[in-house]
Amino acid sequence: MDEIIEFIPLDKLKELQVSRLKGVIERVYQGSDFYQKLFQENNLHPSQITSLEDILRFPLVTRADLRANFPYGFLSVSLEEVVRLHTSTGTTGKPKAIFFTQNDIEASAKLIARSMKLTGARPGDVFQNMMSYGLFTGGLIFHYGAEKLGLLVIPAGTGNTERQIGLMRDFQTTIVHLTPTYALYLADVIEDLGLNPRDDLHLRLAYLGAEPHSEETRARVEEIFGIKAYNSYGLSEMNGPGVAFECPYQQGMHLWEDSFLMEIIDPDTGEPRREGEEGELILTSLNREAMPIIRYRTGDLTYIYPESCPCGRTHRRIARIRGRVDDMFILKGVNVFPSEVERILMGMPEVGRNYQIVLEREKSKDKMRVRVEVEKRFFDGSLPHLRGLEQRIKSKIKSEILITPEIELIEPGSLPRTSGKSRRVIDQRRI
Ligand code: AMP
Ligand code: ZN
Repeated sequence: MDEIIEFIPLDKLKELQVSRLKGVIERVYQGSDFYQKLFQENNLHPSQITSLEDILRFPLVTRADLRANFPYGFLSVSLEEVVRLHTSTGTTGKPKAIFFTQNDIEASAKLIARSMKLTGARPGDVFQNMMSYGLFTGGLIFHYGAEKLGLLVIPAGTGNTERQIGLMRDFQTTIVHLTPTYALYLADVIEDLGLNPRDDLHLRLAYLGAEPHSEETRARVEEIFGIKAYNSYGLSEMNGPGVAFECPYQQGMHLWEDSFLMEIIDPDTGEPRREGEEGELILTSLNREAMPIIRYRTGDLTYIYPESCPCGRTHRRIARIRGRVDDMFILKGVNVFPSEVERILMGMPEVGRNYQIVLEREKSKDKMRVRVEVEKRFFDGSLPHLRGLEQRIKSKIKSEILITPEIELIEPGSLPRTSGKSRRVIDQRRI
């Protein structure tokens, strides 16, 4: 069934979207306090929603709306029907509470199973899930999807890297799911143990998700482990991972349009952007029960590929996420995304596997210091002979993002590591 839906003709896809949208609109209208108020305030009625374009009558929903209506304001079903709570990883304030019915869990698991299958995962594969189990959706939701596909799942969770490696070796793990940052750290520890990530493991696939990463980082992971690595995108507000996933062509991620409606807008004006134009991704859940959200501002920057994918799947693709709108920092009037610095660094073989951007203010002058770990192969206990490298990184960043950074080369493995989402930018500027 799912294979049919991946290749569904566009007119049929649209029909399905319209009928699902009507269902979702009715559900939130009946069930959610937030939406009842919103319908009233905007003089809306579910009967006015008859085509996909009609959702433009709805205002955009923001993270602030979720917080203001915490914990139950968005819930569209009675508590008796809710079987699971997850929250979104936020650093400040209350988390966003996301509820699931039994059918919602099933729907998410199906999308994960679909996504994993199309990258070649099969029963017989041993899948080690190195994402956090618990309130974060990346652990449990992916777990359910992998079981649904019939894989042997090792619910390893995060951390304890040596034990992870032990599990990978004992059970001959073939597929892992982890953050890109952790993939590179894992490789370091494997090498420190005197093992070779290519020859001493049985890995063939990795799913990289939960944080922005560049094509260059993916290439590194593939090269170090000798595997294929696929980009996996999702967010708690849309019920977790499995929103968009790369196919074997690895050119953008198919966003599962049977389950989500997508729009791209100008984050400043809210104006729609055309296919191919970058902007903020807006998503509407189409088949969720407990907590569907209409026109949610994800904060993530991407664009829709105008061309169809050579694989023949009809669901349109979004580009690798450039970052969150709020990841962007402004230095000397230039807008910078950490992912751009990462792309430049990870494309240079002498650069190691971790970096940090420090923003500082000195005598009212702002500057960017990039702390760059040197690749182990090029590090012989001292750094001075790498002066040339410092200069090269500096001029590359200068020519590509128009800011002259200070480069600080540091020993491999000296920056703090995390097995969850990493914090790349330390802003020490005082206003
Ligand atoms: P959470 O709700 O805690 O799961 O966080 C979701 C957010 O993580 C998304 O809105 C993105 O900003 C980020 N994210 C998740 N997957 C990816 C990915 N593959 N590439 C870039 N960012 C991602
Ligand atoms: Zn494809």
